[in-house]
Amino acid sequence: MIRVDKLNKSFGDLHVLKDIDMTVNESDVVVLVGASGSGKSTLLRCLNFLEIKNSGTITIESENVEKETHNLNKIREKVGMVFQHFNLFPHKTVLGNVTEAPIQVKGISRQQAVKEGKELLDKVGLGDKYNVYPSTLSGGQKQRVAIARALAMKPDVMLFDEPTSALDPELVGEVLATMKELALEGMTMVVVTHEMGFAREVGDWVVYMHDGKIVETGIPSDLFDHPQEERTKAFLSSIL
Ligand code: ADP
Ligand code: MG
Repeated sequence: MIRVDKLNKSFGDLHVLKDIDMTVNESDVVVLVGASGSGKSTLLRCLNFLEIKNSGTITIESENVEKETHNLNKIREKVGMVFQHFNLFPHKTVLGNVTEAPIQVKGISRQQAVKEGKELLDKVGLGDKYNVYPSTLSGGQKQRVAIARALAMKPDVMLFDEPTSALDPELVGEVLATMKELALEGMTMVVVTHEMGFAREVGDWVVYMHDGKIVETGIPSDLFDHPQEERTKAFLSSIL
């Protein structure tokens, strides 16, 4: 689904991603972990072209994507993203948030967008909130709207950047449950999170990043219980 080869990204003199190689197969859930500043968000943002790489290749569904030759909006339709801070449209209802892009960007009919939007909101447990405004929702509900909004574009891959980090602890579970359900349905997902329980239970692969490099990749039980690299051991003991 996604292949990254020798990806490099700098901001001025700051070399943030260093020769990243990564493969995400269809229906994989890849969990990216690592200390703050290690480059996790930058990697996700490169994958849906919110940031443009300096070198290396990004292959999405067998297409080598370059900003010069591709319509990046089309790529972003395939690769949905959910952010830590929801980024909902405050002046639109919940249903309006979910139908906006399908209508405006994809050009589907309002009637069809409303039908599909309601189905998605039902699915994330917000079937009674179609017509309210985001300000009336809890953080967990807002994040579930954001997930429904991303799904409304029918992406092939979903990227999550610390989707529960801004939530009060009692609201984290409902968002993780929604993500787990999506994973069980076979959605291909790349998830940056500090929720190690989720990584262990739902992740197919865990990727540990440090200082712009991938230090170690493994299935959760190997990476968490038998890390090979000293860096990984130090990171795990710092968070557990
Ligand atoms: P993480 O998500 O793992 O915390 P980030 O990818 O956000 O890490 O950041 C990696 C490094 O890149 C940090 O040193 C950060 O300050 C820097 N960085 C991220 N975005 C920008 C930007 N737009 N301009 C300059 N530096 C940035
Ligand atoms: Mg980040």
